[in-house]
Amino acid sequence: MIASKFCSADWIKNIIKEDENAPFMENGNDFINDEKIEEILAKGRNPQKKKVREIIQKSLDIERLEPDETAALLNVQDLDLWQEIFQAAGEVKTRVYDNRIVTFAPLYLSNFCVNSCLYCAFRKENTKEVRRRLTLDEARKETEALVSLGHKRLIVVYGEHPLSDIDYIVDTIRTIYEIKIKPVRNNPAPAVRGDAVGGGISNGLKARASSNQIRRVNLNAAPMDIERLRLLKKAGIGTYQIFQETYHHSTYRKVHPAGIKANYTWRLYALHRAQEVGIDDVAIGVLFGLYDWRFEVMGLLYHAIDLEKYFGVGPHTISFPRLEPAANTPFIQQTKYRVCDEDFKKLIAVIRLSVPYTGMILTARESPEIRRGAIPLGITQTDASTRIGIGAYSDRYTEQEAEKQQFLLGDTRSLDEVIREFASNGYITSFCTAGYRCGRTGKCIMDLLKQGKERWFCKLNAVLTFKEYLLDFADKKTQRVGEEVIKEEIKQIESNLPEVLPRFRQYLKRIENGKRDLYF
Ligand code: SAM
Ligand code: SF4
Repeated sequence: MIASKFCSADWIKNIIKEDENAPFMENGNDFINDEKIEEILAKGRNPQKKKVREIIQKSLDIERLEPDETAALLNVQDLDLWQEIFQAAGEVKTRVYDNRIVTFAPLYLSNFCVNSCLYCAFRKENTKEVRRRLTLDEARKETEALVSLGHKRLIVVYGEHPLSDIDYIVDTIRTIYEIKIKPVRNNPAPAVRGDAVGGGISNGLKARASSNQIRRVNLNAAPMDIERLRLLKKAGIGTYQIFQETYHHSTYRKVHPAGIKANYTWRLYALHRAQEVGIDDVAIGVLFGLYDWRFEVMGLLYHAIDLEKYFGVGPHTISFPRLEPAANTPFIQQTKYRVCDEDFKKLIAVIRLSVPYTGMILTARESPEIRRGAIPLGITQTDASTRIGIGAYSDRYTEQEAEKQQFLLGDTRSLDEVIREFASNGYITSFCTAGYRCGRTGKCIMDLLKQGKERWFCKLNAVLTFKEYLLDFADKKTQRVGEEVIKEEIKQIESNLPEVLPRFRQYLKRIENGKRDLYF
C-alpha cells in the first residue's frame, strides 16, 4: 500500500541526470567495451609459464596489472601455476595489509524498492516480501544492538524508493552516529538496551564496558545525483559502495528489465559522481553468477583503471558476492553462470594480484568453510554476526526467516566466534577507523598503502582497537587467544617502530584503565 502510494512515476523520472555522466564518457561511450574484453581474454589463452611468473612478480612489487596481464592470469590452466598464484595473492595481502582483518556488520534499513532486479527478493514484483522501513527509533535500537556486540563499523543498506530517498538516508546515518553507550566497567551485566538482543545473536556474551559507538558508517544504496551526493558527504559517510552487478551490457539489460536500475551508465558512473563531490572512498563490486566470471573480473579492473584516470585513485574496496538463493526468486536456479567454489578462489586471487593495494571484502553470504579457504587469498574485510532482515538485530526471529531477508546467509556465526577463529589462525581483527578520521582517505591512503606505510599505522591502531574489543566484549576463550595475538604484535612493534613504543604502551595502559578510542 505505502509502496504504491509513494512510488510515483515522476519521482522515478527525475532521479537520473544523464548530463552528470557526460564529463566522463568518451564520444558517448562508457569505459566497458564488451568486444574488446572478449578479444583480450581470447588473446590471453594458454599463457606461457614465464610470462605468468613475470606478471605475478609485478603484483608482488605492488603494481597494478594491465588488462592483458589480468587476462593472462584468468586463462591459466596449469594447476601448479594456480598454486603459485594463490600463494602470491596471500603474500601480496601480507605485504600491503599484514595480518589484519577489518570487521563490520551490514544494517538493512528499508526494503521498499522500485526496481526489478531478477535476482533480488526486494524487487518490486515480489509481492510475498514483507516490506518495512525502520523508524529512527528502530534504527537506534538496531545500532545499540550492534554496538553492544562490539561493532564499530556498519554498512547501511537501502532499497531504491522515495521512502528511502536522501533525507531518510541522512537522518538514519545521523541517528546511528549519535548512539553512544556509556562505559559500565567491570559490570558483568550492563544496563544497555542493546544487550537484550534476540534469539542467538548475543550468543551469551555480555558487553561489559563500553564508551562505544559506531565510528564509521559506510553506505550501500542506489546511485545518486550530484545534489544528493553533496548531502551524503555532509552527513559524514565513510565508503560509498555500489556494485555494478554485471559489466556485460546485454546481460545487465536482461537482469534489470525495468526501473531506474535498468540504466547501465547511471550506475556505472555513480562512483565517479561521488568522487566529484569529494566522497573519496568508493567501493565497487560484481554479483558473480550473472555472466562469465572472467569477463566480470576484467570489468572490475577497467572500472578501477577509469577511476584512477579521473581521480588519481581507484576503488577503496572490491566486493565479489556470489548469487545466493532468495525467497520467491526463481532466476537464481535458472542462471547458467553460477560460480563454483574452485573458480571463486581463482577470481579472488586474480583480483588480489590485479589491484594489490585495494581492500577486498568477503561477506557472510559464504559459508565458514569457504571463508576459511578464501581469506588467505587476500581478503582484508569481512562481516560477522550478520543479519540482513529489516530490524533483524533487535527483533526476535529465527536466523533464516526467508520472507524478511534479501537472500539467505552462509555464515551466521557471532562476531566473537569469528574473531576467535581469526585469532587462532594468527589474524588480528581491527576495528580501526582512525585513518579516515585523520584524513587518511582516498588517494592519500592509497599512496600510503602503495609505499607500505599505512601497514604500520594500522598495526598500532589494530592492536589498540582489538584490545578494546577483548576488554569489553570478548568471552574468556577469545580473550585468551586474542591476548596471544597481541603479544606477537607488540614484538613486531618493538623491533620495527621502537620510537613510538613508549606512547603505544601508554595508550594500552589507558585503555586497560577504561579509556576508549585512542589512535595514532
Ligand atoms: N538497492 C541498492 C542497489 O541495488 O544498489 C542497494 C542495496 S542491494 C540490497 C545490495 C546488493 O545486494 C546488490 O548490489 C546485489 O549485488 C546484492 N544482492 C541482491 N540479490 C542478491 C542475491 N540473491 N544474492 C547475493 N547478493 C544479492
Ligand atoms: Fe532493489 Fe537493490 Fe534489490 Fe535491485 S538489488 S531489487 S535495486 S534492493
